[in-house]
Amino acid sequence: MHKYLGYVGIYGQDMPGLEKNEFDLFLTKVIRFRDEAITPRVLEWENNRAFPSTVLTQAAAELGLLGMEIETKSGGLGLTFEQKLRVLDEISETSMPFAFSLVNTHNVAARIARQGSDKHRELFLNDLITGTRFGSTALTEPSAGSDFGAIKTLATRTKGGWLLSGEKAWITNAAASDVIIIYAQTKKDAGARGIASFLVDGTQQGFSRTEPFPLIGGHAIGTGGFRLDNYFCPDEDTLAPAGEGFLAALSSINEARTYVASMCCSMVRFALRKAVIYASTRKTFGHTLLEHQGVAWSLANVANQLEAASLLTEKAISTISAGNSKQAILAASHAKKFTSEMIEPALVACIQSMGAEGLREEHLLGHHMSAARIANYVDGSTEIQTERISKSLLQIYGT
Ligand SMILES: Cc1cc2nc3c(=O)[nH]c(=O)nc-3n(C[C@H](O)[C@H](O)[C@H](O)COP(=O)(O)OP(=O)(O)OC[C@H]3O[C@@H](n4cnc5c(N)ncnc54)[C@H](O)[C@@H]3O)c2cc1C
Repeated sequence: MHKYLGYVGIYGQDMPGLEKNEFDLFLTKVIRFRDEAITPRVLEWENNRAFPSTVLTQAAAELGLLGMEIETKSGGLGLTFEQKLRVLDEISETSMPFAFSLVNTHNVAARIARQGSDKHRELFLNDLITGTRFGSTALTEPSAGSDFGAIKTLATRTKGGWLLSGEKAWITNAAASDVIIIYAQTKKDAGARGIASFLVDGTQQGFSRTEPFPLIGGHAIGTGGFRLDNYFCPDEDTLAPAGEGFLAALSSINEARTYVASMCCSMVRFALRKAVIYASTRKTFGHTLLEHQGVAWSLANVANQLEAASLLTEKAISTISAGNSKQAILAASHAKKFTSEMIEPALVACIQSMGAEGLREEHLLGHHMSAARIANYVDGSTEIQTERISKSLLQIYGT
């Protein structure tokens, strides 16, 4: 359970958040919504490879979840970063993919609320907050993922704006989104220096969607891609000019890495509870499974890993909440690396302790296994976190 921290919002606004009692009440409504509207549909979304648009819209209508960390005067709930994470954690207990899809549309809405023009707010903000339209943030391309500076989508200057051409792949919500923050290169081979970001309206000419990818799981994320063919982007739809796009992309990455870490802790907590409850009643050789040292130690190791992962995640949350953006880079990398490396062995241990029963899909542990794999790539792969940590070695341990 996170502590309640004072917070300067990640989108730069003072966000007082809800009072503790008010927030606790709100959280009980989120949990009820999860249990009634999300959990019963998780396997249906996986089996049908379906994007959960109806339930996302319902989450917006009933609880305002697509505007969590947006100021109330812009139509949001005005939650703090930490409160947003508590909500995402509750949802991730049974569906990290749903939570991940939700927060990605939310992030586009929050960026428009903060950075967009009056026209953007009028055209898109209410539609995103109400789940009438969905949002994506698109950096990755078929030939460039970790190496973001190598993207090839090209923005060519034209009268009154830019013509965008290229292809994006592996984009959250791409199955349904049409309000998209796109990163493109303005000068061929200029690397990070040439990257700018643009707001693209997928209902306009020059935008076409590619088929979402069938994956090993996590279909509620709606992962897929799109193509831009001379899409005209007027000057006012430039969100970050050349040279600033790269930094703009990095500015919110620590928060994203931290909520992924938090979601991983939430999935392991759910699995461990399930395993402990099962192991405390199932008997073999006259004793409950939990009375066998071999099983109890295996689950104790999971609890031990979870404690450590939660503390690293708490540290990243409190660093971000205190507004220490420089320290947040390392804190978020440590949290994401540790949690995404611990989650798979932890889930396997929980499944193993339940014997064959652990394989039944209704327990959602297989669903969490594919989400755990996904956590190792999104918002910077595990190796990229290691790379980031390695860059700090000399400064921190070299004297
Ligand atoms: C479900 C899902 C949703 C996603 N959503 C989005 C989204 O909304 N927007 C978006 O822009 N992208 C999104 N991504 C893409 C994600 O950001 C990339 O998958 C990630 O950046 C890694 O890129 P890659 O898959 O191309 O792997 P590559 O960059 O090709 O790397 C392949 C492997 O090599 C490792 N590697 C690469 N470089 C190094 C190095 N220098 N040192 C050591 N190891 C290295 C990587 O860690 C990885 O294990 C999503 C991905 C998934 C799976």
